[in-house]
Amino acid sequence: MSDMKENQGQAWIKNQVMAQGLCTGCAACVGLCPYQKFYRDQTAIVHECDRTWGRCSAYCPRGQVDLKALRQAMFDADDLTPELGAVKGLYMTRATDLQVRKQAQHGGTVSTLVALALEERLIDVAVLADSEKKHSSRSVAVSTPSEVSAFSGSKFSVSPTVAKFNEISQGDAARIGVVATPCQALALARMQVHPQPGDEERVKKLELVIGLFCGWALSFKELSKLIKEKAGAEFIEGMDIPPSQHKIMELRTEKGIIEIPMEEVQACVRESCQYCYDLTCEFADLSVGSARSPEGWTVDRGWNQILVRTEKGQALLDLARSRGVLEFKAVPPENLEKLKAASLGKKDTCMLQLEEVSGRKDDLIYTKREAVLCQ
Ligand SMILES: Cc1cc2nc3c(=O)[nH]c(=O)nc-3n(C[C@H](O)[C@H](O)[C@H](O)COP(=O)(O)OP(=O)(O)OC[C@H]3O[C@@H](n4cnc5c(N)ncnc54)[C@H](O)[C@@H]3O)c2cc1C
Ligand code: SF4
Ligand code: SF4
Repeated sequence: MSDMKENQGQAWIKNQVMAQGLCTGCAACVGLCPYQKFYRDQTAIVHECDRTWGRCSAYCPRGQVDLKALRQAMFDADDLTPELGAVKGLYMTRATDLQVRKQAQHGGTVSTLVALALEERLIDVAVLADSEKKHSSRSVAVSTPSEVSAFSGSKFSVSPTVAKFNEISQGDAARIGVVATPCQALALARMQVHPQPGDEERVKKLELVIGLFCGWALSFKELSKLIKEKAGAEFIEGMDIPPSQHKIMELRTEKGIIEIPMEEVQACVRESCQYCYDLTCEFADLSVGSARSPEGWTVDRGWNQILVRTEKGQALLDLARSRGVLEFKAVPPENLEKLKAASLGKKDTCMLQLEEVSGRKDDLIYTKREAVLCQ
């Protein structure tokens, strides 16, 4: 199937994506025309458009997309694994700078790599996420390394990252780096590999994608309600999810940690995340998540796991090592297999959910079963 054939403009995203509960809020369809807008964590159609072709549906990660062709265009065929996409290497890293680590979600690897890419002028601008009041997120564009740490930490409601890329790629910046969740990275990959007519020069500005592992994101509305119930008016400094056997989410407040049972958190997960098959951000140069090591969670949480997927990603990681801005430690031998199993778990859950809503075994609303495994 070709991207162009399935491109049916706004009607496609309205009927086949938004109405089906598949909209991820990536905001790839925002900022290229005046007809879609992002508010809090939702993308909404504000004016109907009757065109049967559009950049909105061409780039939507829940549009019909030939994932195999996308993988072949972006990665070395020898690196492709069915479970994780392209893998050149798996590393465990953390920021050398204690201050960066202190502000980061885990080891500060992402913030360190973004700051290094800006410092070395590999990119002119980076798109990051910021927290707004009451737990919604917004996207920001940062152009100096010293600004990066202010936007460290995970925001568990979606941010309009791709809309920010759409905005700044129409301006003066020549090389743009983006920190993206898997659905956002897939939208960016669709732009990169199949830029729509007139979009070629803008899209070429995408220089680097640093992906985040992503189990799910939370609905802004439900998350706000839950936090109010558990923490009242207390200021939330951060949130984290310990390994699944702990069955809790942690809210970090000035007065200490509040633990929320996972079943209550699950009720806040965005509907579209149930239909998502990508845990490790397969369409990125590098993908970063929390580390898993035999020493246990308290040690793990200060480190990251990082999958290198492209030569560009490898070059940036090697530069970070040679500059001494990242520390490395040996990856436990079982970690790659564990990560593959976790990734397959998400793919299986997604396919089961899609089978249930579509009533079909193979043609699963926005993807074919065989395309979910990365071969
Ligand atoms: C919604 C969500 C779900 C996640 N689920 C998992 C998971 O299941 N397993 C796992 O191992 N890791 C998960 N992660 C990734 C993890 O939380 C850390 O981001 C990752 O380990 C990198 O840590 P760090 O210390 O290097 O990041 P930091 O140095 O703190 O940098 C984090 C960067 O991510 C950007 N960012 C934060 N929130 C968002 C967002 N919503 N959208 C786009 N960019 C953002 C920030 O601007 C910052 O640049 C998730 C992240 C998010 C946002
Ligand atoms: S492009 Fe993103 S925000 Fe727009 S409809 Fe598709 S999933 Fe939703
Ligand atoms: S789980 Fe998938 S759809 Fe949901 S925010 Fe993460 S990458 Fe996007």
